[in-house]
Amino acid sequence: MSEAKKSLLVIGAGIAGITAALEAAETGAEVVLIEREATIGGRVLRLNNYFPKMCPPSCGMEINIRRLERNPRIRVLTRSKVTAAETGDGGWSVEITTEPAWVKANCTACGDCESACTTEIDDPHNLGMSKTKAIRLPHPSAWPKIYTFDRAAVSDDEAKKIAEACTYDAVDLDAQETTQTLEFGAVVVATGWKPYPLEKLEELGGDLDDVVANVQMERMASASGPTGGVIRKPSNGEAPARVAFVQCAGSRDVNHLNYCSGVCCLASLKQARYVKEQLPDAEVTMYYIDRRTPGRNEDFLLGSAELEGVTLTKGKVGRIEKSNGGLKLHVEDVENEVILEAEADLVVLATGMVPNAVDDDLAVFTRKDDDGFVLDDLEAGVTVAGVARRPEDVAASVRDATGAAARAMVAAGRRA
Ligand SMILES: Cc1cc2nc3c(=O)[nH]c(=O)nc-3n(C[C@H](O)[C@H](O)[C@H](O)COP(=O)(O)OP(=O)(O)OC[C@H]3O[C@@H](n4cnc5c(N)ncnc54)[C@H](O)[C@@H]3O)c2cc1C
Repeated sequence: MSEAKKSLLVIGAGIAGITAALEAAETGAEVVLIEREATIGGRVLRLNNYFPKMCPPSCGMEINIRRLERNPRIRVLTRSKVTAAETGDGGWSVEITTEPAWVKANCTACGDCESACTTEIDDPHNLGMSKTKAIRLPHPSAWPKIYTFDRAAVSDDEAKKIAEACTYDAVDLDAQETTQTLEFGAVVVATGWKPYPLEKLEELGGDLDDVVANVQMERMASASGPTGGVIRKPSNGEAPARVAFVQCAGSRDVNHLNYCSGVCCLASLKQARYVKEQLPDAEVTMYYIDRRTPGRNEDFLLGSAELEGVTLTKGKVGRIEKSNGGLKLHVEDVENEVILEAEADLVVLATGMVPNAVDDDLAVFTRKDDDGFVLDDLEAGVTVAGVARRPEDVAASVRDATGAAARAMVAAGRRA
């Protein structure tokens, strides 16, 4: 088999893509790992803590980064996407386009450029809940540890001042987009997910200030988040006395997402713990259709449900509106067949995970299901890992990624 046919392209450097790349490279394959963002790690780096162990996601990521740095067989291309691909002759020929690197690899992350920058933008890491400088370290766990520059957000004059402030000459205002075509034996798709948008959940108060999505709650609880880790009502900054978690917000619903995202019950139970740790007197209610915490995660459910002031109510929330300075929830109590009205100060909607591939038409996504999740195509040498394949938690994504790497290498061998 030629070297090109043994090599693997991994698309998406979230936890699944990083794992697939590492596992393949550690068994001898040459791997190119591409990521469209400036840094790797994907969605997990926006979480505060992981269930079930409640450790920060940066812990696991540091180990993976050490493995990546030590492995000469993996090439990581950030700010990169597949722009064309064709298969034939037992492999894939893939065009990869990399956005201009306005900041070069010799950046020391000293921060002088940031001090010279006056333009602020919505912080993508904090899901737009706070502002950040146009040139910045994207987040504390960023790898590569290089500043990123939203060049289009600043004027030419300001860009020059920012470049002049860098004593290492690391800001490159002449940077260009680059394109390269590479040959691979197989492809692992690990393009992950995005949250179902709040804007589509108007009936559940998605447009109200004190109704937030579960992903926003993760940022609010995080020390590097928009409130420095303080859980509060976005409308006025006050501590909420009553917090409601609304499960299946837009999931298992023919008008929104047909499927269950599998992790939202555990995510809300985890977030109920965040609330009780900070606000021990707060009343926390979780409204659910079914409590889905498979396997050993049942222990996590029981541990959270036992906390004083945490109530789990079987009921589907149909409508949320403003009322008496707070929020009113209309809940169908399915066990007693009555409609209940409940009040809350802060509502967290457990929105589901939408595959990024749903509106991405890369040639390498040869097969997708009706919901946009990508399917393995062993004949074409394409395997899928993590949430690109189906909604799952980190532990399952990692297991899945090991399998996807192995299947891809087998597929490459068969096609060669
Ligand atoms: C509210 C919430 C809380 C959660 N909490 C937990 C928890 O506590 N514990 C737990 O185990 N799980 C948790 N999860 C689940 C966890 O987030 C996922 O299991 C995990 O993100 C899956 O990783 P992934 O690599 O498949 O996808 P992602 O993290 O989405 O990574 C995919 C990567 O691919 C990149 N990408 C996408 N398209 C392209 C493209 N075309 N080209 C190049 N790159 C691309 C993206 O930029 C991203 O970096 C939670 C989920 C939610 C919604």
